[in-house]
Amino acid sequence: MTQSLEGKVVAITGASSGMGEAAARMLAKRGAKVVLGARRVDQLQALADCIAADGGQAAFAATDVTRREDLARLVQTACGRFGTLDVLVSNAGVAPISLLDELRVDDWEAMIDVNVKGVLHGIAAALPVFRAQGSGHFINIASTAGLATQPTMSVYAATKAAVRVLSEGLRQEAGDKLRVTLISPGFVRTNLAGSMTDPGVRARIADTMDRIAISPDAIAEAIAYAIAQPADVDVNEIVIRPTAQA
Ligand code: NDP
Repeated sequence: MTQSLEGKVVAITGASSGMGEAAARMLAKRGAKVVLGARRVDQLQALADCIAADGGQAAFAATDVTRREDLARLVQTACGRFGTLDVLVSNAGVAPISLLDELRVDDWEAMIDVNVKGVLHGIAAALPVFRAQGSGHFINIASTAGLATQPTMSVYAATKAAVRVLSEGLRQEAGDKLRVTLISPGFVRTNLAGSMTDPGVRARIADTMDRIAISPDAIAEAIAYAIAQPADVDVNEIVIRPTAQA
């Protein structure tokens, strides 16, 4: 039997757009108290206001996931405002993909810093809190690119494969009280193409998104599903892709 999301305190990185925003809206509508993190504070403020206007509860903190101290502040915001942190959704990500031959080394580093170190910073911030309270749930957003790569996606795919391996390692070390869920989406209609620095690649991905991408609500539903399971049920991996995705 699934549990209610009522009263669960859920922090979400990358909550200013796309899947993070969709998850924040859906979870808040179902009774969770959401704590929004991202760099664009104006967007977070507007989203928090909107959730409050709908009768939900939301707090936010300026969060650049490449900075360990920002994740600590996000977790502190949850504990300070709502008294606990039940779930950390590590969703923030960038995808400035390109062929390796182009040697866009700054883009490689950005993907490693945000997609991998960002998740590690979340673990560093939340794990001690989860251990102290004897409960907690990590939900990490990877990608189908982490399951199988293709040209232009090598570094991005490597970061998402890293998130997958980290999540499994975390699960094995977590013990009998903490839960770990990895969600690997395929094409989802969001602003992710905006983080792509190669104009040709960006146009191609944007075109594919226009044709086949699914709603970010599909990922929000999966997040809600994983959280709503009883404490002794740990949903470890969910892959969600458009039916039309090869
Ligand atoms: P969006 O571009 O819409 O959202 C990305 C979010 O990440 C934004 O809220 C952005 O906020 C945040 N972000 C980027 N850099 C940082 C940073 N340094 N610190 C904090 N937040 C940051 O894309 P999606 O919703 O699609 O992306 C969400 C996740 O889903 C990512 O991990 C992505 O890799 C993954 N994914 C996306 C797929 C897709 O097809 N869309 C497919 C598979 C996986 P801000 O700029 O305000 O900081």
